[in-house]
Amino acid sequence: LTVTDLVNESYSRINQVESKVDAFLSLTEEAARKKAKALDEKISSSSRLEGPLYGLPVGIKDNIVTKGIRTTCASKLLENFEPIHNATVVERLNEANTVTIGKLNMDEFAMGSSNENSGFKVTRNPWDIDRVPGGSSGGSAASVAAGEVLFSLGSDTGGSIREPAAFCGVVGMKPTYGRVSRFGLVAFASSLDQIGPITRTVEDNAYVLEAIAGHDQRDSTSANVEVDKFSEALTGDIKGLRIAVPKEYMAEGVSDEVREQVLQSLKTLESLGATWEEVSLPHSKYATAAYYLIASSEASANLARFDGIRYGVRVEEGNLIETYKKSRSQGFGEEVKRRIMLGTFALSSGYYDAYYKKAQQVRTLIKRDFEEVFKDYDVIIGPTAPTTAFKIGEKINDPLTMYATDILTIPVNLAGVPAISVPSGLAEGLPVGLQIIGKFFDESTVYRVAHAFE
Ligand code: GLN
Repeated sequence: LTVTDLVNESYSRINQVESKVDAFLSLTEEAARKKAKALDEKISSSSRLEGPLYGLPVGIKDNIVTKGIRTTCASKLLENFEPIHNATVVERLNEANTVTIGKLNMDEFAMGSSNENSGFKVTRNPWDIDRVPGGSSGGSAASVAAGEVLFSLGSDTGGSIREPAAFCGVVGMKPTYGRVSRFGLVAFASSLDQIGPITRTVEDNAYVLEAIAGHDQRDSTSANVEVDKFSEALTGDIKGLRIAVPKEYMAEGVSDEVREQVLQSLKTLESLGATWEEVSLPHSKYATAAYYLIASSEASANLARFDGIRYGVRVEEGNLIETYKKSRSQGFGEEVKRRIMLGTFALSSGYYDAYYKKAQQVRTLIKRDFEEVFKDYDVIIGPTAPTTAFKIGEKINDPLTMYATDILTIPVNLAGVPAISVPSGLAEGLPVGLQIIGKFFDESTVYRVAHAFE
């Protein structure tokens, strides 16, 4: 098998299914074929395979900048934006000799849970094309589930890797905050954003994280912590593992089928020698409210740079202020505008203490809830999302219902701990995701449990 074979396979699969799935915003076929050829030549001239990811076809979420390749964040405002440099994760994948197949669709600026907020098109769930693939990394999850690429990168601010992974029946990891460099990830909410891998198997996922993780001087929040050999944690042995199951994660709002499936998974883990007990994360009920204040506040500041002058689309009419206003009004979609307004309001003087500051205090309490539980348990387990993939159009006109989709993933981002979603069987023909949450920088244990269970 050559790299050229793999890349051919990727594009022929894309030709077959892309008209139904619509996962990609850009394809980089010419460059990919050239690189495949170069990698094949390199390998025939040296006898050993250079690394576990050598020649693998990858798709990149379109909020991760790629040199010379259009990077839109699925926003009309950045329709023509061609970055002049690569994100650190893209550089690291290049060093691992992967082949970029294209850029993947998402909710505009990663704001959403269904991909319906893309400024260009709606990606569909390969399991049922009338359903959403989840969001915001919907293209990343759907492309892997549909076999268009071997793996992809997504970003997760409040669940955007894990929820689409759950909906599409693939494996999605949100690493510890600081584990992976955010340099070159277009910022949504800088204190929450993390890049992570979406794959078919836990093993693949561990190898990809090994390749992209690690300290980076270009991201001041990147942690100077050694990168473990995650792939070596996949021993299959979870005897004596202590699992906590938060009662808030199995409560009302979580559908019966999903709860049933999670209980089944816990039985499987028990049969492998683990034990589980119910615990409480008492402040998780405030997580969604705190998240939407914090994330929107940070977004309102981060998105101020899109003024129609420096990047993307410019609507030049009237004076400079008019140009700013018109470019932003026409460039941003509804949801992005809603977040900017909410965030600007929460940060405004007179309201700051009541909203932003309070939300930050709640965030601390949520983090403490996790720390408390992790004193006695190795991992926390629950569903990734309260339901399986919903129908396209079902929630899009009701933002609050849409926001509630993230209720089980958001607390993890607020705390900063790592969490994976692994497929846990089907409910009425649709995939259910099991969420495994770990201690700070303990992705190894998360992978070990996920792999044993898989
Ligand atoms: N769905 C959440 C939001 O809309 C999370 C998005 C994300 O993780 N990027 O903010």
